[in-house]
Amino acid sequence: MISTSAIVTDIEGTTSAISFVKDVLFPYADEHLDAYVAAHRNDPVVAHAMTEAAVEAGDPDADDATILAQLHAWIAADRKATPLKTLQGLIWAEGYAKTGLLGHVYPDVPAVLQTWNAAGIELYVYSSGSIVAQKVLFAHTFAGDLTPLFSGYFDTTTGPKREAASYLEIAADTGFHPGEMLFLSDTEEELDAAREAGLQAARLLRPADTPAGATTKHPAYVDFAALSADVAVA
Ligand SMILES: [Mg+2]
Repeated sequence: MISTSAIVTDIEGTTSAISFVKDVLFPYADEHLDAYVAAHRNDPVVAHAMTEAAVEAGDPDADDATILAQLHAWIAADRKATPLKTLQGLIWAEGYAKTGLLGHVYPDVPAVLQTWNAAGIELYVYSSGSIVAQKVLFAHTFAGDLTPLFSGYFDTTTGPKREAASYLEIAADTGFHPGEMLFLSDTEEELDAAREAGLQAARLLRPADTPAGATTKHPAYVDFAALSADVAVA
């Protein structure tokens, strides 16, 4: 039994299919980038992201066509550039709101999040996707808006997911002792970092997202339903 007061969850491979991000969200942003920037070029957030992208590309005076080409190249390379993540978050937000795009969560996830929330366990997200992208994904799922279940969101502005210091920062931010928290992920190195920081850790081994022959030294579960049977409120 895992006794916990707060759960911090990863998204890709944990609450949601990796293929959704790779095969749906990334192509969606790629396809809508130019039109989105053209329609919102004077929005201060978009203007700032374009300037930042030009600087990050080492060409501060680049024109829009050059910056857009760079952003597409970053999408193709899965480069986690902040201005790109900002624009992707905005494009996805518009997509969810206007086109009925749904944020993928596995079918077992909403009911278990609701159970934990009702039991008084505080829920947090820690993902490499931007906080905007995290919120819009959970706001538009097949089970409706799940954002009221979460108490907070963390992304890589808190620090890299494979470093213990990031988890200490999350514990400090949320006011929990690290040992009162449980971190969920499909990635062994992230779980190792969380353990090093004193958090409890559990690995999701979702069949669709788990490499063949994967092993783990952490408690492991095929889905949230199996995990939930093992989690108690501290
Ligand atoms: Mg993951």
